[in-house]
Amino acid sequence: MYPKDLFPHKEIQELLDLYRPIWALGYAQQLMGWDLETYMPEEGSLARSIASQEISLLIQKLMTDEKFIKALERAEKLEDLNEYERGVVRVLKRDLKFYIRVPPEIVGELSRITSEATIIWRSAKKNNDFNVFKPYLEKIVDLNIKVADYLGYDKNPYDALLDLYEEGLTTDDFQRIVDVLVPGLKKVLDKILSEGYYSKPHPLEEYKYDVEKMKHVNSEILRILGQDPRRLRLDISAHPFTSGLDMRDVRITTRYEGYDFKRTIFSVIHEFGHALYDLQIEERFRATPLSGGASLGVHESQSRFWENIIGRSKEFTEAIYDLLADNLSLRGKYDASEIYRYFNIVRPGLIRVDADEATYNFHIALRFELEKLLINKEIKVDDLPELWNNYMDKYLGVRPKTYSEGVLQDIHWSMGSIGYFPTYTIGTLLAAQISKRMMREIDLFTAIREKKFEPVREWLREKIHRHGSVYPPKELIRRVLGEDLRPEIFVEYLQWKFLKT
Ligand code: MG
Repeated sequence: MYPKDLFPHKEIQELLDLYRPIWALGYAQQLMGWDLETYMPEEGSLARSIASQEISLLIQKLMTDEKFIKALERAEKLEDLNEYERGVVRVLKRDLKFYIRVPPEIVGELSRITSEATIIWRSAKKNNDFNVFKPYLEKIVDLNIKVADYLGYDKNPYDALLDLYEEGLTTDDFQRIVDVLVPGLKKVLDKILSEGYYSKPHPLEEYKYDVEKMKHVNSEILRILGQDPRRLRLDISAHPFTSGLDMRDVRITTRYEGYDFKRTIFSVIHEFGHALYDLQIEERFRATPLSGGASLGVHESQSRFWENIIGRSKEFTEAIYDLLADNLSLRGKYDASEIYRYFNIVRPGLIRVDADEATYNFHIALRFELEKLLINKEIKVDDLPELWNNYMDKYLGVRPKTYSEGVLQDIHWSMGSIGYFPTYTIGTLLAAQISKRMMREIDLFTAIREKKFEPVREWLREKIHRHGSVYPPKELIRRVLGEDLRPEIFVEYLQWKFLKT
């Protein structure tokens, strides 16, 4: 039985009962995914991929079952649904849409080709060999074009793919963002580079650290931000990620490379932001379709808020200075202002995941432009490497010399994800707008200086987290900010931070 005051209609209760095993299978799959990246012995992957595929098929079977579809249709027809119930219907309709509209043979083909392609991509990237990956990418693009057609769209086939990752996002929406963002960022970046302060090399980039001491630093940082260890744990994996199993069970990971300690610190703070979102969702949404975040973009706004707005601030650097100095032997060598510069190096580079606040969104703009052209059949996969390099030149003034540092760098396309990248920029823009809005009510930088994050967490819980996925992202954003996404706010934030204007 689900809470009657949230879900008063018996049709919704029935629907939620039918959803329960689907939720449980998703839960099992997520836990298996976390285990695979953290503790599973390497050779366990053979059995794990069979088990995981079978669970996916079970989920698909339960969702496309007559009984489930009928229950959803009955629920949808009710006219006096409250907002929670409307949320349930909306989220389930979205989940079901893919299965209903895209024929099973296309879904199967996509799943087969991507499980092969991710392996091929890995060796292609390692060996700088675009040609071996090319036929796979061609097939993936082709299948995505078909998927877009089956899903349907108003204006642009790319809309259908964007909507898979960010509900309601269209090509026009994101084009408007890029058209303001790129020239705005270009101006700021040119100025930062001509001043030279944030772009010059910093000795801490090469500085080696002791992993055990670094683990202590990270756990102290989590404690300062407000970790409840009974609900949130930190482990190690090759690529940092968050696994939000429940409001009382979230796992995050980081990695220790042994040098350049800002990398592990900011991955921990980033994943903490994701984790806090999952931890603060209304508990009575447990095991319902509302128990996730509003969208990938909104989720990313939470990680970027903690990572960039808080973690990379002068106030936070000062607040954790003693912790860093004592554990990494920095005292007498680097003061807080030196560490602040190290945390905020700005330098155009080839690799998206290594990019700083001022250059990151150029990498996304490039991927958006190329994906849009591919899905509209205006370019071919063959054209990608050259176009990629030209965009890098145009946006950041750097040109990849290898495919590995260019078109082959991301895993996303090999996994079949076309339309995913824009969610990263949405998160970045939203984080800046959220902090501006928050500062009307909270003296954010005093809170950071005093390491008093309770009001900050509470503000985010009240305005964003607790709602889970009740509202579609565009509506949630309007409720929180009283306005839509505005890229100029992010540009102003960078000017304020790096140029003091
Ligand atoms: Mg993230």
